[in-house]
Amino acid sequence: MSNWPSLIEFDQRHVWHPYAKTPNPIAAIGVKKTQGSIITLADDREVVDGMSSWWAAVHGYNHPKISQAMHVQIDTMPHIMFGGLTHEPAIELAKRLIKITPAGLDKVFLADSGSISMEVAIKVALQYWISLELPQKNRLLSVRNGYHGDTFATMAISDPENGMHSLFKDILTQHFFAPAPEAGFDKESDNHDIQALESLLQAHHTEIAAVTIEPIVQGAGGMRFYRPAYLKKLRQLCTQYDVLLIADEIATGFGRTGKLFACEWADISPDILCVGKALTGGTMTMAAMLCTSQISDTISAGTPGLLMHGPTFMGNPLACSASIASIDLLLDSPWQSRVEEIETHLKSSLNFLSTLPGVEEIRVLGAIGVVQLERADLGPEIQAAALNNGVWVRPFGKLIYIMPAFNIPHNQLQQLTDGMSKAIQTALNK
Ligand SMILES: *Cc1c(COP(=O)(O)O)cnc(C)c1O
Repeated sequence: MSNWPSLIEFDQRHVWHPYAKTPNPIAAIGVKKTQGSIITLADDREVVDGMSSWWAAVHGYNHPKISQAMHVQIDTMPHIMFGGLTHEPAIELAKRLIKITPAGLDKVFLADSGSISMEVAIKVALQYWISLELPQKNRLLSVRNGYHGDTFATMAISDPENGMHSLFKDILTQHFFAPAPEAGFDKESDNHDIQALESLLQAHHTEIAAVTIEPIVQGAGGMRFYRPAYLKKLRQLCTQYDVLLIADEIATGFGRTGKLFACEWADISPDILCVGKALTGGTMTMAAMLCTSQISDTISAGTPGLLMHGPTFMGNPLACSASIASIDLLLDSPWQSRVEEIETHLKSSLNFLSTLPGVEEIRVLGAIGVVQLERADLGPEIQAAALNNGVWVRPFGKLIYIMPAFNIPHNQLQQLTDGMSKAIQTALNK
């Protein structure tokens, strides 16, 4: 038997967790195992998972089809370098990604995490203009409330206020920021947001390589939803001003918003697309960048003619095999009706919270439910109360949000929304 108290104590003293201190004044909660949408904690409590391990585990945990594909791959070839060598898992994954992503994206770069795929996207965009002998087009235009990763290039295009700009202001590249798209998926808008973006493009397009944006849902930068018409107009403006469009679908990809890719809401194709998180069904770290042949041909015809990137674990066969299994599982499942059912349930079970004092707004899109509070300091209390009610949520500032697995059984989904709502009510009533 594991001695959990001493393990946790070691963890607290020596192990860094995401956005945390070490030594850590807040002990992480020990986890023993997972199955479907159930997480078994160190003390044998079973809780319903509301987070899908940050958008990733869309089929729940330990899905037998993904596990089986990984078992076969691990016994055959868990890893092999990708320089000069290739393998079926990478090729089969690339085929699927090209087929299911928006039209025109037919070149694939397999990266090892979401942030790295965005780094590659940025590098591709800059190298494209260098190849066209327009190296002055070397800045990016992003929107506020965006989140694109934790590496230096991606921090520089994430929200300048709630991101890490002030901490690293002398090191981060200065880019252009347009206001965030106006909040509201269904909202009629006066288009002030898109006009502000157009003014920036008009004034600076000769310096701008690409616009970077999360389509329809801004994730870690505020869990905000915006209208498809904005994205459609943005696509037109990028073409008009000769600027590339980079769509970051690391959070939204693979069905989460109710479309396989959120770009489909606006019926657009970006020039460059990044996917990650749910790519492997939440089992392994892997991401991908896709771009058009026009971009890759231009880079290949320029100097040095090579895309200057190649991580050690590029195209890892084990992660590729998990990705293939996860994509096939998704496409063979009634994912669209499952996501619709979750959306209906989230709306009917969370909307009543909007009448409570202290709640700013409830928003639901696809299999994403967000409760925005007025106060930002209730998160830890709500997380603890939710755990006591048998559910795992990880609030972020004012935002208490859930993104369950698409195949979560109905009774567990009910338990999840009940446990979360009661935890919020308890915290607000204090
Ligand atoms: C999570 C996320 C990233 C970063 O991915 P990592 O795998 O954590 O590096 C980038 N963009 C978006 C939209 C994300 O949600």
